Amino acid sequence: MAQARARTLEDRMTEPTPTAAGAAPAPAEKQDFIRQIVRQDIASGKHDAIRTRFPPEPNGYLHIGHAKAICLDFGIAEEFGGRCNLRFDDTNPAKEDPEFVQAIQDDVRWLGFDWASLRHASDYFAVFYLAAEKLIRQGDAFVCDLSAEEVREYRGSLTEPGRDSPYRNRGVEENLDLFRRMRAGEFDDGARTLRAKIDMSSGNINLRDPALYRIKKVPHQNTGDAWPIYPMYDIAHALGDAIEGITHSLCTLEFEDHRPLYDWCVDKVDLAGNPELLAPLAAKDLPIEAAKPRQIEFSRLNINYTVMSKRKLTQLVAEGLVDGWDDPRMYTLQGLRRRGYTPGALRLFVDRVGISKQNSMIDFSVLEGALREDLDARAPRRMAVVAPLKMVLTNLPDGHEEVLRFPNHPKDESFGERELPFSRELWIERDDFAEVPPKGWKRLVPGGEVRLRGAGIVRCDEVVKDADGDVVELRATLDPESRPGMDGANRKVKGTIHWVGAARAVEAELRLYDRLFSVPDPDDESGGLTYRDHINPDSRVSVRGYLEPAAADAAPEHAFQFERLGYFVADRRDHRADAPVFNRSVTLRDTWAARA
Ligand code: ATP
Ligand code: MG
Repeated sequence: MAQARARTLEDRMTEPTPTAAGAAPAPAEKQDFIRQIVRQDIASGKHDAIRTRFPPEPNGYLHIGHAKAICLDFGIAEEFGGRCNLRFDDTNPAKEDPEFVQAIQDDVRWLGFDWASLRHASDYFAVFYLAAEKLIRQGDAFVCDLSAEEVREYRGSLTEPGRDSPYRNRGVEENLDLFRRMRAGEFDDGARTLRAKIDMSSGNINLRDPALYRIKKVPHQNTGDAWPIYPMYDIAHALGDAIEGITHSLCTLEFEDHRPLYDWCVDKVDLAGNPELLAPLAAKDLPIEAAKPRQIEFSRLNINYTVMSKRKLTQLVAEGLVDGWDDPRMYTLQGLRRRGYTPGALRLFVDRVGISKQNSMIDFSVLEGALREDLDARAPRRMAVVAPLKMVLTNLPDGHEEVLRFPNHPKDESFGERELPFSRELWIERDDFAEVPPKGWKRLVPGGEVRLRGAGIVRCDEVVKDADGDVVELRATLDPESRPGMDGANRKVKGTIHWVGAARAVEAELRLYDRLFSVPDPDDESGGLTYRDHINPDSRVSVRGYLEPAAADAAPEHAFQFERLGYFVADRRDHRADAPVFNRSVTLRDTWAARA
């Protein structure tokens, strides 16, 4: 485009959600219960600085639910001048993969956040080990020889207390010896565990002598073969938080029942009071910030029409039900990104959903609404035709071409203008013509008139059909008094349709994505069905259409509103200016509300 612009398309795609008027109001202070706690803790002087962490397990790609946790963990640090670490919870080497480690970092950055420090639970394995020996010496942990099966039997149930393990009263020396031999790799996987000695009759099953360490002779992506034993999530998470001086350890509600164990680990080990346990950190050049963290739980994000667990998302990929982790129908952040979701839209969505302890199901339309709102302000307008029908304007000379000027955005002049080639032959949308119109039809019919957006009023004189009787071309007259700027342009015609000048049109692949599942609760397995049976067969329809040149000439990930069709994004992987591929991110209106 000829004219210089203050903001490039790149800027527009990454800056915070703009407002239609251009003036961004100061964001309202968020008032959820976690931010209230943080404010109080700052006011009371409990902490000098706020520290949070986002602790993903690198066993899959992040999904939209994680966006809520990321926006909360990083958002709070940002809002209160604190720091947020990204910590990989890499305590289960069998399921973890460097591919996920990289993707998670990319996703967090894409959402617009950055970490104060990148950590791994595995950075602390030596500290955890010293902590475990301390627990043994205190009589707070013991080596147990029960098999996994036996441990289950001894555990009891919600209504019955558990029974003490026969190994519970081993002496400290024997426990230390056995634990050191576990660490030395003397025993087979599963032969022994280190268990906390808490209370087998506790009403909270998490406190019935939970395992702290297990034997697993699996090489680890960071520590290689160094460790034949690995800490369990509860101790690793609690001590990891304590090591990093996390003040507010935010997690989802399913960890509420683990909180007493979290506190038990923090208090019994008391890293802040036993700095010698932190000695291995100095060797790794990691700063020591030990403090007593507080775990606070909030409700998970649930959205209807989606599945949101790494396990199910992994299965969709493994079973070939989608085209990989970043299939634009996937609810992974990579999928949403490729679909055309912007960081601004996701942050807007997370703000709208809010933070509470109440479990709820968010309607998918809230997610789509946030995307529409973000892109309405952000995306330049273009014209494209998805189901092309040729229209010939017979009263224009053969080969006639001209250039019209169109604003790029109806509500924001700063987007500037573009040149739109108009020609004797046009592509219009097949759906904008009806030989036998339904009631209330406002668009084109044989002999009828319609306005071509920004170009003039046309009358359909002739319908050309092929041998099968299918309409292949419309021959029409352009009212010469109805061109842009003329008085005749003001006369009333019922409908306005979009078009693309055929002479300069660029053919494109248009992927018309829709919701991946056709039912609100794809997780519902009643009737013997699974989420696999609920995949929406129309969730990906690929067509060949036409674009105006200024749409084809876009960088990957640039979004447009194709007028009357929806918001589209140039595909991150497949789009090229000379072979454009656009994904429909969302339609202009909610087409699902009526179906429900
Ligand atoms: P999933 O259960 O979907 O496989 P996960 O909880 O095992 O996910 P983690 O890698 O352990 O995934 O999660 C990292 C952080 O993200 C945790 O603090 C977790 O509470 C949070 N989180 C995961 N899913 C959601 C969700 N749906 N809503 C909000 N936060 C979530
Ligand atoms: Mg988890």
